[in-house]
Amino acid sequence: MDARGEQDQIELERVRVIYRIRRSARRRTVTLAIDPERGLVIYCPRRYPRRGLETLLREKAGWILDKIAWVERLRAQKARLRWVPGSPLLFQGTLYPLEVHRDGRGPLLRRQDERLTLHIPERAGQGAGQGPTAQCLREHVIAGYKAAARREIMLRVEHFQAMLGVRPRTVRIKAQKKRWGSCSALGGLNFNWRLILAPPPVLDYLVVHELCHLLHPDHSRGFWGRVAAMLPDYRARQAWLREHGAGLYLY
Ligand SMILES: [Zn+2]
Repeated sequence: MDARGEQDQIELERVRVIYRIRRSARRRTVTLAIDPERGLVIYCPRRYPRRGLETLLREKAGWILDKIAWVERLRAQKARLRWVPGSPLLFQGTLYPLEVHRDGRGPLLRRQDERLTLHIPERAGQGAGQGPTAQCLREHVIAGYKAAARREIMLRVEHFQAMLGVRPRTVRIKAQKKRWGSCSALGGLNFNWRLILAPPPVLDYLVVHELCHLLHPDHSRGFWGRVAAMLPDYRARQAWLREHGAGLYLY
């Protein structure tokens, strides 16, 4: 069989769903996965019968169709994301039109009234006598996001550390591929800059989560009890990240 796997399709609740099958001699169980790049993939043992897979797909139809709708929303979001002045960009959970000021200040990105203003050097990445190229604008906006994330996260760390009676050794803003935050054994906290794209309660949750690790280096009951004491609705904030987190990785 082709190393990339067989491809097939099935109709689930009148929706035609295309999927790939990846067989492996080492695999003992069947797993379904959906992501924006690869679509629906079934990982299964080498000789698992096709009919068994179809039964599983029908059983999981609700989950699969939900996920496919999610992937389509994400793709549409990606298609709308443009690095040009006037384009709507996320900031603290809301979309604002980007307004570019080539006035030599910054790069500085901040929300002003109902706009997201970016200040950049006058001659930044000039494309053929026009305005800055999309690539250049993207780089400046991301730099602005990182600086804004640093400002906001430092303020929130200061706010919550006093309440918890802890003090991190360092606070760093990073571009992690898969995580939102982490706490090192030496007491250094790291946060993903994309948290500035999320609503403030979600950023607060990550700040509290990592600060609580200074008291409990694990995810024990004591740890979650401490988080819940600070943010009784922390589960709703986690749920927001699970549902919308992938959308923040489009940036
Ligand atoms: Zn943790």
